[in-house]
Amino acid sequence: AFMEYIHDMVARIRIDASNVFYFLEKKDYSDVLPLYRELMSIYKLSLMLTNVITISNTDVLLGNIDKDPLTKLLTRSSMKRLIEKEFAMADSQNYAISLMMIDLDHFKSINDTYGHLTGDKALIDVANIILRSIRATDFAFRIGGEEILLLLKAAPRTVADKQAEAIRQDIEKHTLEHKGERVKVTASIGVSTFTGPFNISVNEAIAQVDGLMYKAKKLGRNTVVSG
Ligand code: GH3
Ligand code: MG
Ligand code: MG
Repeated sequence: AFMEYIHDMVARIRIDASNVFYFLEKKDYSDVLPLYRELMSIYKLSLMLTNVITISNTDVLLGNIDKDPLTKLLTRSSMKRLIEKEFAMADSQNYAISLMMIDLDHFKSINDTYGHLTGDKALIDVANIILRSIRATDFAFRIGGEEILLLLKAAPRTVADKQAEAIRQDIEKHTLEHKGERVKVTASIGVSTFTGPFNISVNEAIAQVDGLMYKAKKLGRNTVVSG
């Protein structure tokens, strides 16, 4: 029913638009203005409807998905299905998808030095930094202990690179307290941007961005490598 409604709207917009051009050609603006007004109100309504549908879809979808209890990030269990779906949508609508692999540096030594509870707190803080930096249509998965995968919807390479560098800096700037001591963590980040045709599998895409993250480790950690 919604699709029918949208279809009708589009048809009305099209007719009104051609009418507007007809009157414009005749230079009879008094006839054009009311049509133009109607055109804009229909257009606004259909935009609003589309947004409502998108938001409620995402809400229903995300409400039913497993979240990691510690960090509140999505878990590995939904990752493949969601990324596949996003790749398919990006393919049909012709926009880019960027993936970002974030792995905390020498995290084992944070646990060894300050204990597991401080390690857990560091993970929660990093997750919050990341959640603050992404948009409602992006996804953040905790895919390993201290490994987080982001999917940035419709993000071209330049946007994704900037965002990765901003996240790296935010994590670097953040300080935790442990018995009055200042604890710092850093992250190594890989970034890849995918554009249509999406004939790469989700596993291949993840392997690619994981490889770039590994390069960042080899370059000395606390750095972003994009490719
Ligand atoms: P690298 O810079 O090479 O990534 O070094 P790393 O020590 O971070 O890497 P490694 O994979 O050897 O160790 C990851 C550590 O993350 C091991 C584990 O103690 C810690 N870790 C994983 N999950 C959790 C968690 O839920 N809580 C806490 N506190 N630590 C965790
Ligand atoms: Mg690590
Ligand atoms: Mg790791």
